[in-house]
Amino acid sequence: MVKAIQQPADPGPAAWNSILPPQSPRSSLSNKTTADWLIIGAGFAGLSAARRLSELHPNDQVIVLDACRIAEGPSGRNSGFMIDVPHDLSSDDYGGNASNDHRQIRLNRAAIAYAMQAKDQWQMADEAIVASGKINGAMSSRGVTHNEAYARHLDRLHEPYERLDEQAMFEITGTRCYLEGLYAPGTVMLQPALYTRLLAASIESSRLRIHEASPVVSLEKEGTGWVAYTPQGSVRAPRVVLTVNGHLQSFGYYDQHLVHVYTYGSMTRALTTREVNALGGQSNWALTPADPLGTTVRRFSGTGGDRIIIRNRATYDPSLSVSDKRLERIASDHDRSFLNRFSKLKDVSMEYRWGGRLCLSLNSVSVFGEIDKNLYAACCQNGLGTAKGTISGKLIAELASSEQSDLLEDQLKDTGPAKLPPAWIANLGGSVRLKWGEFRAGKEL
Ligand SMILES: Cc1cc2nc3c(=O)[nH]c(=O)nc-3n(C[C@H](O)[C@H](O)[C@H](O)COP(=O)(O)OP(=O)(O)OC[C@H]3O[C@@H](n4cnc5c(N)ncnc54)[C@H](O)[C@@H]3O)c2cc1C
Repeated sequence: MVKAIQQPADPGPAAWNSILPPQSPRSSLSNKTTADWLIIGAGFAGLSAARRLSELHPNDQVIVLDACRIAEGPSGRNSGFMIDVPHDLSSDDYGGNASNDHRQIRLNRAAIAYAMQAKDQWQMADEAIVASGKINGAMSSRGVTHNEAYARHLDRLHEPYERLDEQAMFEITGTRCYLEGLYAPGTVMLQPALYTRLLAASIESSRLRIHEASPVVSLEKEGTGWVAYTPQGSVRAPRVVLTVNGHLQSFGYYDQHLVHVYTYGSMTRALTTREVNALGGQSNWALTPADPLGTTVRRFSGTGGDRIIIRNRATYDPSLSVSDKRLERIASDHDRSFLNRFSKLKDVSMEYRWGGRLCLSLNSVSVFGEIDKNLYAACCQNGLGTAKGTISGKLIAELASSEQSDLLEDQLKDTGPAKLPPAWIANLGGSVRLKWGEFRAGKEL
């Protein structure tokens, strides 16, 4: 028996979901039932796996269980960058090893194609998902050096980009704080909660049922299949797919292999027309920091108004939980980062503050494959789950269905996360590395 001892917990509200009109809750699992497939976790990976299974086996019964409501977990609390080009968060400039980067680009682009196909198929609005590209913004000479190194890396990969000068950055962002930017055209931007909601609603049918507020508290082997228990019900299924990202560890797998990091966001209240005019710039833009440990900034106009979103700080939390106090402390860092960029908006307050989980591995690879008889996993997205979750969810459905493809071969080259050093070294090393990286990010934070 595998007990899922620890349930997911994310501090603060899922802001992207909060600015949307309320959605009616889906039922939680309240009976004993059976299905051909059970998927645990309804984020990018779980919804993609469910979507692909229903394409491959239109007559099969698929059940998806999530501990929380759709778009309330990390899939609805991220910054919405679905990035095609290398974005290795553990490197100084996002670049990794060239041959691995080519493989990763193929996988990321396949994820983007699958998401854009969903957009066309179910007529999702641009607000939910749009191909717009993104900018790596540099506020300091150190940031410019990072962009230069990244540009050289993109040259080696024969990937297109454009360098933007200070004036071009001003015209886009309305702030003079950016010295320059590197625009890469292939990124797709999500309103992550809206995209996740629309995807869930589009794939649901009488054969594909999604239950919210249905935490799996234990998972037992039964013959060659499995039975998953929630507080009020159970599902028996011959095959189970775990798409719970870092909570894979709570199911008893990959202990001492997964690196649990929280990162944090703040979203302003809706700007007034006067504030929008005072700021200037474009109404939608998306900027990742030139230094991976700097500040991500988005300006977003859509349902819920015209807002600015700040994301920074990363904390190593192997306990898979953080306190509300932590959120309060990080709020002041966010306010500082916001004011450093938007002094014109000094009277604009943050309406939402939140945190969310990332799962990384020391060697930047995912957990992908059959981890026990008829138990499959697509987890550990290394902080880039919009693309990696989408593609690994799709491909795990294909692997479990004995499909074959070059892309599946590419995904299977992720050989699994390296073992962490003993807990006290990992704790110390993880925290020190993040703090040192943030210190070095300096003005980019
Ligand atoms: C502030 C922030 C900004 C980010 N920005 C970006 C970004 O711009 N681009 C990007 O690519 N990534 C970003 N990320 C990371 C991204 O959100 C994750 O990588 C992504 O959500 C992982 O997708 P997933 O489907 O694998 O897992 P998740 O989205 O974590 O989904 C797993 C689901 O499993 C459920 N679950 C866990 N345990 C159980 C259980 N016992 N029973 C039932 N259900 C369970 C959880 O409730 C959860 O909904 C960001 C994250 C944060 C927090």
